[in-house]
Formats: sequence, C-alpha cells, structure tokens
Amino acid sequence: MENISQALVRLGVMDITTTVGHSLTDQSLVSYSAIDGTQLGTVGMVLPGAIGPMVERSQVAFDAWRRVPAPVRGDVVRAIGNALREHKEDLAAIVSLEVGKITQEALGEVQEMIDICDYAVGLSRGLTGLTIASERPNHRLSELWHPLGVVGVISAFNFPVAVWAWNAMLAFVCGDPVIWKPSEKAPLCASAVQSILRRVFAEYSCVPENLHQVAQGGADVGVALAAHRGVALVSATGSVPMGRSVAEVVGSRLGKVLLELGGNNAAIVAPSADLELAIRGIVFGAVGTCGQRCTTLRRLHVHASRYADVIDRLKSAYARLPIGNPMANGTLVGPLIDARAADSMQAALDAARAQGGVVHFGERLVSGVPSGGAYVHPALVEISADAPICKVETFAPILYVSSYEHLDDAIALNNDVPQGLSSAIFTLDVREAELFCSAVGSDCGIVNVNIGTSGAEIGGAFGGEKDTGGGRESGSDSWKAYMRRVTSTVNYGTELPLAQGIRFDI
Ligand code: NAD
Repeated sequence: MENISQALVRLGVMDITTTVGHSLTDQSLVSYSAIDGTQLGTVGMVLPGAIGPMVERSQVAFDAWRRVPAPVRGDVVRAIGNALREHKEDLAAIVSLEVGKITQEALGEVQEMIDICDYAVGLSRGLTGLTIASERPNHRLSELWHPLGVVGVISAFNFPVAVWAWNAMLAFVCGDPVIWKPSEKAPLCASAVQSILRRVFAEYSCVPENLHQVAQGGADVGVALAAHRGVALVSATGSVPMGRSVAEVVGSRLGKVLLELGGNNAAIVAPSADLELAIRGIVFGAVGTCGQRCTTLRRLHVHASRYADVIDRLKSAYARLPIGNPMANGTLVGPLIDARAADSMQAALDAARAQGGVVHFGERLVSGVPSGGAYVHPALVEISADAPICKVETFAPILYVSSYEHLDDAIALNNDVPQGLSSAIFTLDVREAELFCSAVGSDCGIVNVNIGTSGAEIGGAFGGEKDTGGGRESGSDSWKAYMRRVTSTVNYGTELPLAQGIRFDI
C-alpha cells in the first residue's frame, strides 16, 4: 500500500480513495491487487447513460482539434511521451500492483507507450496521401486524409495501458478525440494515465477540453460506447465473445470497428532448430505475463526427431521457474489476474487429461507466494494436436506440445484453430522459413522466424485474422483506420471530359 500511495501521489491521481475498507457507492469501481487481492482503492465510475453526454463533449472537442495542424498535435504527443518517461517507474509500479505483471514486463509496457509516442510524433508529419494519374486532361486526382471523429477505445486487463497508447497516440495525431473504456480490472492504471494527460494538456492552449475522457465501468459501459452513433471508430481489444458483440452492435449502425481479439498461437520446432535459442523463445512466449498475453505461445509442434530433447529441456526450464511476487527481484512468473482465471486453468487441464493429455506441473500454488493472489505453476501438456482443448484460448500458462513428421502437417495444425494472431517457426533451413512466411504458410497476422510468438515491436502493424478480428494497430499504415479518406478530383481546364469517355452533350 505504501508503494502505491506514493506512486499515485507522484502521478497526481486525484479521484482515488486508497483507504482500505472505503465504503462504496453504486458509482465506484474497486481496484484489487492481483498480487495479494488487497483492495487498492476505488475510482469513480460512470453508468451507461453517461456515454451520450460524453460523446457530445467529444464531438465539440473534435471540431476544435481537427483544425490544429497535425505537427502541432504531434508536439502535444511528444510532451505525453516525455511525461511518461518521467513517470515510467511509477506507472509501471501501478501496472504491477494492479494486474500482477513482473517489474521488467511492466516497465516494458510503459516503454511501449513511450515508443508509440515517438512513432506518432514522426507520423504527425507523415500522414501522406497519394497522387493518382487521372485519365482526363487537366485533371488532378488525389487522396486526402482527414480526421475521422470520436474514437472509442475499449481495452483489456492484460495490457492495461500500452494498448490504450497504441490507439490514443495515433488518434491524437490524426485529429481525433478519444473516449477510453478501460478494463474494470485495471481502473487505477487508467486513472493514472488520465492524470498524466491532464497535466500535459494544461500546458497547451491548442488542446480542447475533453480531448480525452475516461469512462470507467463494466461491460455495459462498453456496450453503450459501441452503440453510440457519434462514435466514428470503436477500437476494441479483448476476448472473442466481446469482439463478436461489439462487431454486431457497431455493424448494426454501420459504424467502423477495429478488433484485436484472442489468439491461440503456435510455434514449430523444425529438425534444424537452434534449440538453445528456441527454448528461450518458447519459455518466454508460454509463461511470460503468466500466459496472459494475446500472443502467448499456447501450442508447440515439435519435429519427432527433436521431441524428446525439447520436452526434457522444457521440463527442466519449467521446474526452475521463479514464481511469486511480481515486484520481487528475480521473479519471472507473477500471478494470474484472479481466482476465476486459476479455476479456468484447472478446468482446461482437466479437459486435457480427459482428452488423453499428460500434464506436467500446472498446480495452483499456495505456499511460497503472497497469499490472496492466484499463483500457478505454468503447465506443459503432452497431447495430440487435434484434441479439442487445443483449439481454445485459455488465458493462463498452458502449453500443449505435440510432435509432427512433415512440415506441411505442422503448418496445417498451426492454421487449424479459429484464431489467427501470432505464429513462429524455429528452423535454420531457409526453405522451411520462407514456406512458413509464404502465402501457403501460416495464416496469422504475425509470422516469426527464430523468435517466439510474443513481444511485437510497435513499428509493425499488430493484429490477426479470423476470430482475432482482422484489425491492425500501432505501426505501418494502421493510422489510416483513424482517418477519413477523401478521393478528390480537381479540373483545372476549360472542358468537362467525363470519366470512361462517356458523352453527355447538352
Ligand atoms: P474481456 O473481453 O473480458 O474484456 C475486455 C474489455 O471489453 C473490458 O474493458 C470489458 O469491460 C469490455 N467488454 C466486455 N464485454 C463487452 C461488450 N459486450 N461490449 C463492449 N465492451 C465489452 O477481455 P479481458 O479478459 O480483459 O482480456 C483478455 C482477452 O483479451 C484475451 O482473449 C486476449 O487474447 C485478448 N487480448 C487481445 C489482444 C490483441 O491485441 N489481439 C490484446 C490484449 C488482450
């Protein structure tokens, strides 16, 4: 508690009561620590009915913000990046305390926010359109990109601040205001971010009021945000059922969505794999963030010739994993978000056993870890790759391992799940590597060679296919989702030639 109080004070978080046992009203959201279940405090929350007025305020902000030149908007984002640099440790501490990330990963999450700020600053001078050859004389045909409107960001608990930054920094430089519906499991993280923004924005007269609003609350608040016609883009990150619901709600009003949903990521270990490197990539991918990344490695297909060696090495690495308080030096595996997540893990392991799997480790830990948290030993499961449980994303550290004989079969297994986020192959054979990356290889949005499935850089577009939702965020040309494309034709001649040579003489 001491830690968090100091960090919150330095971050200037105003609307939080950190008194344990604070009596709650209907309009408060309680923050619990994933580390030990302690009540960290409460934040004010909104009810779904508040979304309408919030959207109206955002639309007023939009009218002003879209008139600010993009490089000036970028300068504001530069200041956000600097403020995040200044508060990196404090914000990371809140991420660790609230959602249980180990310190290194929490620092990495804030660094990702800083990186996307830098990226967005550059982008603010690079929102470029095309000039296209016109078929008509004395005509100029070109594309213009304009600010889109209010962007609604719905985020998940496992990246409580970085995913917001991926969206909000791009939205800001593109000229859009943001309404953020953070995870109800990470309300303090959102309050801390809002405090940082409040102070940065106060320094800039070009920033309109309500450029950024936070709608703390439950799923019903997310539903209201998705349903509002005044929200031009709904960018939603979370589970597949949540994305399906958002897609239906936004689709029914013909709005725009950007969906970043669940993954069920696989890696292939080929005969030529460098096992030292592969084992490190596999273990980080499978147990990092306690298996609670959308890109977590969940399925491993090992060539039969390397299977015994890989299983032995994995068992040995898993046996030595330092599991415990995520803020303690040396811990590599912190807690799951809550007891319900631990129950889901045990249910998945029971299902795996019932489907013929052999489970190594995977037990719930009660001693040697802080009491009140949901600590588990990451599980390795030797199982046939076509067992039904392997097609399901269980948001916990379970790695299903199977063997294969032919690469084509392993690629087919890689693709034979509803989700399509991340994938990897460990091989030194260039033919295998290129086949995996080719049009007939992995069907995922992220295809890696000699790197695990998790740990993407912000410069690339991030997202996946099929049930993962098809959205792309962060780098490359993802910014286009936050802008409105205009095709513009200018006739600077004295004739009016029609396209396709149509004659229409009056
Ligand atoms: P979740 O779906 O339970 O909640 C995510 C957010 O959606 C929360 O803010 C929640 O309040 C809101 N929400 C829930 N139902 C809603 C609805 N019907 N309409 C509108 N909003 C709604 O997910 P979670 O447990 O917080 O996160 C874990 C899931 O998120 C995993 O499936 C993981 O793979 C996925 N995830 C995906 C990515 C990605 O980039 N692809 C990144 C992080 C997490």
